[in-house]
Amino acid sequence: MTSLSSPPLHVAVVGAGPAGIHAAGVLSHLAPRTKIDLIELLPAPYGLVRYGVSPDHPRIKKIVESLHGVLDGSNIRLLCNIEIGTEITVDELRDAYDAVIIATGASRDATLDIPGIRLPGSFGAADFVSWYNGHPDAHTTWPLSAESVAVIGAGNVALDVTRMLIKHAHTLSDTDVSDRVYQDLAANPIRDVHLFARRGPADVRFSPIELRELGDQLDVDVIVNPADLESNPHLDRMTRQFTPVHHIVETMREWSRIPADRRTASRRVYLHFHHAPAAVLGADTVEGLRTEVMAPDGYGHAFGSGEFVEHDVQAVYRAVGYASTALAGVPFDHASNTVPHVAGAVVDNHGNHVPGLYTTGWIKRGPVGLIGSTKSDARQTVDTLLARVAADARPRLDRQGVDGLLRDRNLRTVDWDGWLRIDSAERELGAACGRDRIKIVERDELVTIGTQPRDQT
Ligand SMILES: Cc1cc2nc3c(=O)[nH]c(=O)nc-3n(C[C@H](O)[C@H](O)[C@H](O)COP(=O)(O)OP(=O)(O)OC[C@H]3O[C@@H](n4cnc5c(N)ncnc54)[C@H](O)[C@@H]3O)c2cc1C
Repeated sequence: MTSLSSPPLHVAVVGAGPAGIHAAGVLSHLAPRTKIDLIELLPAPYGLVRYGVSPDHPRIKKIVESLHGVLDGSNIRLLCNIEIGTEITVDELRDAYDAVIIATGASRDATLDIPGIRLPGSFGAADFVSWYNGHPDAHTTWPLSAESVAVIGAGNVALDVTRMLIKHAHTLSDTDVSDRVYQDLAANPIRDVHLFARRGPADVRFSPIELRELGDQLDVDVIVNPADLESNPHLDRMTRQFTPVHHIVETMREWSRIPADRRTASRRVYLHFHHAPAAVLGADTVEGLRTEVMAPDGYGHAFGSGEFVEHDVQAVYRAVGYASTALAGVPFDHASNTVPHVAGAVVDNHGNHVPGLYTTGWIKRGPVGLIGSTKSDARQTVDTLLARVAADARPRLDRQGVDGLLRDRNLRTVDWDGWLRIDSAERELGAACGRDRIKIVERDELVTIGTQPRDQT
């Protein structure tokens, strides 16, 4: 523990997603004299809340307001547009701070190793999500030319991808999507999305509310095979034992009872259970998806039956999970794609604590859990840091934090005031069309606004 007589701690937090912001906030609350630098790769903070959460979930997007509240007027200094690991190394940070907290999250697709997965027209959910959320490093346009699309996955990201593909663009007109995303979605010729889950309806990882939302989409029918929802010992046990499973199965049963003559929508979502992806088909571009029918064992597991089905689709989206990226200078477990740790203190391959290095959020736990869980997670890491930091007893070589490095390397940093200017510019863009905000997408434009000298604003 630090005491009032000891000099204030100087801590760097890497990654300004919810985990990094909460870690900085909890640290500043528990040890108010601490000087905290929150360093972010992108020109804007908030991580996946800004660049992952679906634009048609404005209530969740509003979490940005509480994260804003943590940073505004605090002793936390925001430094955006700096890539740790390349522009400044983790070792340089460790030399300059008493402790470094790694909160770099997860931003890429987990791999799905089946033949044809690299064909043009086969996409990772993370890339699509980044595109429709206006991520500065995402593709500028998205090839939306397929009428029939397969989505592989049984979690909320698969639902987000399905919804964003099947939605009529005008239902997004009050969100923060950029004009070019809106225009591409408006020209989307899609008619059918086929969502494939390896296991049964009682084993999906959807949230009941997000699943129900699929059925609330304008001019979209959701089609489920009633046979998949028939009573069986596993499904009955799961619905009795777990309330969310009960709601999920009831929602699907409601859909399955809708008579065919009432299904008049111009777009459809088909839910297929017990199908595992086997191959993406096509010569030069996606022409289909082959799935293997899975045989349930009655206990929630399913095994390949040897029976294969081919589906006529022109695009395949895999939503099989996110994965974190290793950061040079930080131990990494390539099997779980996480940073190994004990209660947030980073350990090396032999289980030994790496002095001064801590971790929190998705890179610590893996890419599961809602935004809310990043706060309790951050609390654990900060408690560990405060208990250990004196024992770490590392001589700091450079007591200026990163300031000297930023100057020497001529890095263009977007600070809190810079972010507020970007925020205002996006709100002004939105106000001009009666919307709360329209996102600025180009990195250069974000950086130019975010680094403008004060007298030019
Ligand atoms: C598609 C999708 C939809 C979701 N929807 C919801 C939802 O509706 N509700 C909900 O509660 N949760 C949702 N989540 C989960 C939620 O986004 C996560 O729980 C949360 O964002 C994890 O926080 P994090 O800070 O660990 O990671 P992130 O949010 O990924 O933040 C990590 C930050 O680190 C930065 N960074 C990465 N590398 C570097 C580097 N080298 N140097 C500096 N900075 C770096 C990144 O740019 C990013 O800003 C969703 C997730 C996804 C993927």
